[in-house]
Amino acid sequence: MPDQTPIDPASRPHSTLPYPPIYKDAQFVALSDWDGTITMTDSNDFLTDNLGFGLEKRRALNIEVLAGKITFRDAFREMLQSVAANGVPFNECVELLKKNIKLDPGFKDFYRWCKAHAVPVVIVSSGMEPTLRGVLSTLLGDDEASEIDVICNSVVVEDGGKKWDIQYRHPDSGFGHDKSWAILPYRELAHRPTLFFFGDGVSDLSAAKHADLLFVKIKDNGENDLASYCRTHDIPHIEFKSFHDAQAIVADVVEHRRTVQEVLQEGK
Ligand SMILES: [Mg+2]
Repeated sequence: MPDQTPIDPASRPHSTLPYPPIYKDAQFVALSDWDGTITMTDSNDFLTDNLGFGLEKRRALNIEVLAGKITFRDAFREMLQSVAANGVPFNECVELLKKNIKLDPGFKDFYRWCKAHAVPVVIVSSGMEPTLRGVLSTLLGDDEASEIDVICNSVVVEDGGKKWDIQYRHPDSGFGHDKSWAILPYRELAHRPTLFFFGDGVSDLSAAKHADLLFVKIKDNGENDLASYCRTHDIPHIEFKSFHDAQAIVADVVEHRRTVQEVLQEGK
């Protein structure tokens, strides 16, 4: 069962960026992390590992976040600042990501299936909007990419692109972008939809506990931090390797062949 603690509106963090309208009449909503979940490689990891302070230091910070020693917000900013400090202009980052980041091979079909079955897909990311939108348009085409709602962070660019820094949606939250606030408004609706959430990493911890059916991506590179967290904390979830697998399960629920409870009991 997702966390059912009543929402205290006062706990809502101040947002520096707007939200798209919520889908009030939807029966099902699919919310998904972007980096490492919809994409095969995490674009921020790609930048940090190749142009910033490198994989070793980045992983050490990820582990500290998981252990609660540092906030995701502060660790993530350090990673991106290591790229900017090496003098890589922001537009060059966007171009590099467009060339190097690939989609999960099942995502396009999954997205089209959702659209055909009136299941809105919302991307919920800790990434920066211009890099995310740039990669999404390259991989999906401008038309389809522009219809997808994206709730993420942004970037402040100065000096013609030479100086840049992430602009957090929720600067007062330790998550920088507290993804749970993309999900929580759906719980207040009179006809509350069934919520699917897809994620892979530490930036998804805040949202994971609020989904009805949580899908956790398992990647071959072994960086499966959300899976480790869910296993350690007994958070019910379904592990998946590609959106092809996830689509079959989502279809079972949407087409009433199985309930969310049955899916979770069967574990696949
Ligand atoms: Mg991710």
